Amino acid sequence: MSTEASKKAFEEAQGLIPGGVDSPVRAFKSVGGTPLFIQEGQGGYLIDIDGNKYVDYVQSWGPLIFGHRDESIENAIIDAVKHGLSFGAPTLAETELAKLVVELFDSIDKVRFVSSGTEAVMSAIRLARGYTGRDDIVKFTGCYHGHSDSLLVEAGSGAATFGNPSSPGVPADFTKHTLLAEYNNIESVKKCFADSSNIACVIIEPIAGNMGLVPADKEFLHELRELCDANGALLIFDEVMSGFRATLRGAESITGVTPDIVTLGKVIGGGMPVGAFGARAEIMAKLSPEGPVYQAGTLSGNPVAMAAGYAALTKLKQNSRVIDVLNSRAARLVEGMQTAAKECGITMQIDTRGSMFGFFFNENPVKNFHDATQSDAKLFAKFHAGMLQEGYYFACSLYETGFISTATTDTMIEETISASARVFKEITNG
Ligand SMILES: *Cc1c(COP(=O)(O)O)cnc(C)c1O
Repeated sequence: MSTEASKKAFEEAQGLIPGGVDSPVRAFKSVGGTPLFIQEGQGGYLIDIDGNKYVDYVQSWGPLIFGHRDESIENAIIDAVKHGLSFGAPTLAETELAKLVVELFDSIDKVRFVSSGTEAVMSAIRLARGYTGRDDIVKFTGCYHGHSDSLLVEAGSGAATFGNPSSPGVPADFTKHTLLAEYNNIESVKKCFADSSNIACVIIEPIAGNMGLVPADKEFLHELRELCDANGALLIFDEVMSGFRATLRGAESITGVTPDIVTLGKVIGGGMPVGAFGARAEIMAKLSPEGPVYQAGTLSGNPVAMAAGYAALTKLKQNSRVIDVLNSRAARLVEGMQTAAKECGITMQIDTRGSMFGFFFNENPVKNFHDATQSDAKLFAKFHAGMLQEGYYFACSLYETGFISTATTDTMIEETISASARVFKEITNG
């Protein structure tokens, strides 16, 4: 398999775009290769500019639950384009998509559309602060909520310390309002509330997908809800990734824990740039122009993007069993790979939530970010390279979740399992 064209393209891009990519995770840095430049997608496949074809387990990092070039989404976009790309004025498409979101999420009475997950979360945090009149927020180590300043904070020395910015360019003055807790560890959250009486909200990925796939324990989420209520803080579920992927009606529908604010992204745009945040009417009433908390966007609720999102969510709603079907396929995939690994003496931790799957090369179960960092990164890099050589495109970091789409067939999954067996043998023999 030659990837000469991609290598050349990457060289040229590096001269013009920092690191040759517009989002760092695309750079293949942690697996030590060079990124493939993509020519096109076809259902469950990606084709690179050298003409190599791969089974795609990234699906644009989540959005494409119906795979590449789904006909109904593509047609909805083409129809919308013919009426104009953007107006900066209200359209019916926004109301239609809002209706669907409000119908699907019990916790949401009203929703505001934006253009990315980052924007959705950033705005939700501002709303929570404006609503409560408080400044501090609690986030969990290993959860990713986009790249806005106050959320770009990594672990300090253990849980519940005030955060340090994880990037130059973020003033410590901004992140001193971000407290860190450990995922699935309620004591660490209690410590945050003991340290500060100024906590506006706790934000969590109820099904974490940015430290690998690490779902929160139900009991932990219930305790989190109680702690927030006892302290007058809002609970935000960041479902930018898990929304419409893990389940149709949000993590609230499978955990029984109702958040105050939900953030959405990825699938909600059907492949176009869309983010959203929603809450009960009383909270959303604080948002401009109804209330004083300012938030805006020139391309927010873009009609072409709304049409794509509406087509995707409608299709999901009409095929209500689809997420269960995808879940059994995803489970077959990771169980098959786990068995193949075991035959080579490799221990794999696996999990799935709907069309999301995760695996760690780790002897022990993974419950938080620290556990995830104990996984074998070198083995992951070898696995990634081996699978790519076989024609299987997995996310290029062990801290990412995998995705299947309705275009990922049972046959593709069985072939992936066989390929993984060859790759594990190669790794352990070489
Ligand atoms: C992807 C993601 C974001 C950021 O969304 P962008 O569209 O990349 O800005 C935020 N939160 C979670 C949980 C995500 O997975």
